[in-house]
Amino acid sequence: MRTKLFSIIAIITMASTALAQMKDLQPGFNLFSAQQDIQVGREAAAQVEREQPMVRNTEVTNYVTGLVQRLARSPHAGKEFPFSVRVVSDKSVNAFALPGGPMFVNTGLIALADNEAQLVGVLAHEMSHVRLRHGTNQASKANVLQLPLALLGGVGGDGMLGQLAQLGIGLGAGSVLTKMSRTAETQADYNGAQIMAEAGYNPIEMAQLFQKLEAQEGQARTIQFLSDHPNPGNRVKAVQDEINQMPRKAYTTDTRQFARIKTVVAGLPAPNQLRSTSNGDQTAPAAPAVRPSARLRQYQGRAFAFGYPENWQTFGDAQSAMLAVGPSDGVIRDRDGKVSIGYGALVSYYFSESDEGSRRDGNNLSAETAGLIRQLEQSNPRMRVGESRGLRVNGFPALITTLKSNSPYQGETEIDELVTVIRPEGLWYMILISPESEYREVQSVFERIVQSIRFSN
Ligand code: ZN
Repeated sequence: MRTKLFSIIAIITMASTALAQMKDLQPGFNLFSAQQDIQVGREAAAQVEREQPMVRNTEVTNYVTGLVQRLARSPHAGKEFPFSVRVVSDKSVNAFALPGGPMFVNTGLIALADNEAQLVGVLAHEMSHVRLRHGTNQASKANVLQLPLALLGGVGGDGMLGQLAQLGIGLGAGSVLTKMSRTAETQADYNGAQIMAEAGYNPIEMAQLFQKLEAQEGQARTIQFLSDHPNPGNRVKAVQDEINQMPRKAYTTDTRQFARIKTVVAGLPAPNQLRSTSNGDQTAPAAPAVRPSARLRQYQGRAFAFGYPENWQTFGDAQSAMLAVGPSDGVIRDRDGKVSIGYGALVSYYFSESDEGSRRDGNNLSAETAGLIRQLEQSNPRMRVGESRGLRVNGFPALITTLKSNSPYQGETEIDELVTVIRPEGLWYMILISPESEYREVQSVFERIVQSIRFSN
């Protein structure tokens, strides 16, 4: 009897508080610490910023940052995570949040939103995924035995995200960090509506935007967003029921500033297609973010010496006659295990089929160089050969030839400067390699490397 009475009282208490006090959702099970969420998110955001074309318009950036700051003051945004937002120059309709707070919104989503409250709705929804730690919650449940080792971080020097990527928990299409479950969606809608209401926006607009997106289902430009945020069903009704539980208040739906930002976004220049990842090879890495240092250190080999940027390293044996130098992530192993260098320099000798004596004749420099280029073309059929010009290297006649080919980096073309010099041993050559997006920036360093070349015989 006593227990039955107790449960009746409990039911009455719950019923009377349901209207007055709404649910305050809390993060679920998680192997990651909040600090690890922040660390993984920071590394992942750096990768996104390298791979995708960021809008650098201050008016647009300040506007979305202002919206996020306003939403972050809501109690339902929590206090744990430092939220940030960047706009991606991409016409497809997408937005996503990374663990620990970094968010990205495509220009296509701003163009699609009917009013400020709809844009705010997406931001509040994404912030809820962050606060409720859905990304790392899903990663925790992926049953990866090596996860604790990866979370030690810094193993092999490639950061926590690099370690996670090796366990299949990296970024990219279908990543557990951004592809949400229907339960996570229901929670993000619920918590997101609370954030919106607390910031003075009508929460129904969030559900309206989702409905608008779902009406376009099957269209390529909305596929990613709808796959990452699957419809939990009856979105509009669920949010309306929730609003009915909230105290009545007057909400903002739109502002003049939003209309202005939509015009600015529509007039932004098209993103550089080369940096777009939408149809590239998902497994190719991004180009290294760190530029070569202007301070050179000396490489002294058996037959030659030269200076190379002090933040680069050498790959190879100093006793051999060939060498690669570059940043630590300049050497890449692809899916087939093939190693290539995407950024840095490669030094070696070419031995033509012509007879021994002719090599010492400087007049054969063009012919020898042409032979080497033919060999390079055979191993790289898509290579295009540009201009050649003469110069002096350590006092000897030399040629510098520009080549263009596929880069091992995501969405990049590669530009190579081939420097050739006739030496007693054969045609000495150095290939200075950079992704096209970095090419202009590295010119002065590359010139100094060429000037520093010395032959010891
Ligand atoms: Zn979602």
